[in-house]
Amino acid sequence: MAATPAPLTSLDHTGLRPEDMAVFLDFDGTLADLAERPDQVSVPGETLHALQRLKRSLDGALAIITGRPIDDIDKFLAPLVLPVAGVHGLERRRAGGERMAAPVDQEKFGLLRERLQSFADANPGLLLEVKQGSMALHYRQRPDLAEACAAAVGAALTGLDGFHVLHGKMVIEVKGGTATKADALAAFMREEPFRGRVPFFAGDDVTDEDAFHEIARLSGISIKVGRGTTAALFRTDGTASFRHWLGSLADSFDAAK
Ligand SMILES: [Mg+2]
Repeated sequence: MAATPAPLTSLDHTGLRPEDMAVFLDFDGTLADLAERPDQVSVPGETLHALQRLKRSLDGALAIITGRPIDDIDKFLAPLVLPVAGVHGLERRRAGGERMAAPVDQEKFGLLRERLQSFADANPGLLLEVKQGSMALHYRQRPDLAEACAAAVGAALTGLDGFHVLHGKMVIEVKGGTATKADALAAFMREEPFRGRVPFFAGDDVTDEDAFHEIARLSGISIKVGRGTTAALFRTDGTASFRHWLGSLADSFDAAK
């Protein structure tokens, strides 16, 4: 049973040294506010600037771990380019720039896509987002269809093995592989410039809980953004308070250099 997380304001970041830290951040609901459609989000300029400063003071040990494709993150963070684990760990770009992706059965993937697309087309307001190795059925504009979406995903998976279903905030994700955000975090931690540092991870959704457990295993620092049961050590109210805290972390790391 996880203990109640402490308020993030009780984490004294003046005691943290940038050369000892590896910072991993979820994107949606953590850096960016959630929006009606996934393409409508943005990161405030002030936060982009804080990320730029963090990258510099951490000597590059700053990465995004997200459910989105890597290319989406590049678009939202431009001109900043960071190491990214995308699609909940199915694809990853290392600090050196090399990209890797988990193999997916394209025939099964195509069949699942067809089935879910026809369900989405028949129900206005639903959005099927297709990514590398995964697809996400968004029902933020049709919360009344939550149960129907879950049933449709179950039906669409009939006869198709090897897929994993994740329930997020107003979205059901179907992944064609078993890699998780925890696997992505562990993989980064085996590589430069992350290796040997204390990992820090902030996220807002159920899919971030795997990574919080990995952080606990590595004796790192975990932050839950927003409400909900969590294994994280600290909690903050929402994206605005987290972005504010991240800005003050960047200030304190700059001062430490
Ligand atoms: Mg999130």
